[in-house]
Amino acid sequence: MTGRVDAVLFDWGGTLTPWHSLDLVAQWYPYAQVYDAARAKELAQRLFDAEESIWQRQRATGGAAGTGNLERVFEIAGIDTGSWQHAEAMEAYLEGWDPHTHTDPDVVPTFQALRADGIRVGVLSNTMWPREHHENVFERDGVLHLIDGAVYTSETVSGKPHADAFHAAMAAVGATDPARVVFVGDRPWDDVHGAQQVGMRAILVPHSDIPLHQQMPVDVTPDAVVHRLGEVLDVVRGWNSGA
Ligand SMILES: [Mg+2]
Repeated sequence: MTGRVDAVLFDWGGTLTPWHSLDLVAQWYPYAQVYDAARAKELAQRLFDAEESIWQRQRATGGAAGTGNLERVFEIAGIDTGSWQHAEAMEAYLEGWDPHTHTDPDVVPTFQALRADGIRVGVLSNTMWPREHHENVFERDGVLHLIDGAVYTSETVSGKPHADAFHAAMAAVGATDPARVVFVGDRPWDDVHGAQQVGMRAILVPHSDIPLHQQMPVDVTPDAVVHRLGEVLDVVRGWNSGA
């Protein structure tokens, strides 16, 4: 085992916010109905296809080609992002996601306890959403002030599992030694493999029903598995008591 843990980094979807199995085409309907009601069904499919093409490339390149941002989705789908319809449609899109963004109730006490132990807390999310939206969600749920640094791949060149994404997240919380950093996530390839390949320890939260086409074949053994986020604290304290 390695040094004392002084930073814990968390994935967002399926980790800090519990996994919901969603019809990702349907998630674009609220947008499409506002932008072009007459062709909403076709438009929702086109937006989903644009989004999915980016995710496919991100997976195929091991995260070297990042997630990009929603602007890229709209560009591929031929949306006029300068239009008033787009501005209103974006509000409908984000509202449609709201019920699926709620923070796990274990997060606030866990972050508070980690920080009380002198451990920095960070977030690294493969996401196309703007930072502002993620921060609004964290603010709504009383979490934002407990986060020392966050990397959203809508702002970066690469995404998980690429090493650059993990190094950026370390830098965001001021950590320099990956042997003293723990990563917590729900995906064996993106999160566990990604973190371990840069020398971090990885904790898996195995409750997400990740769609088969999003799963990458990988043979990894997480350093720990937890069934509730609150257990992350026990695992980290256990490691630190032996360090
Ligand atoms: Mg996740």
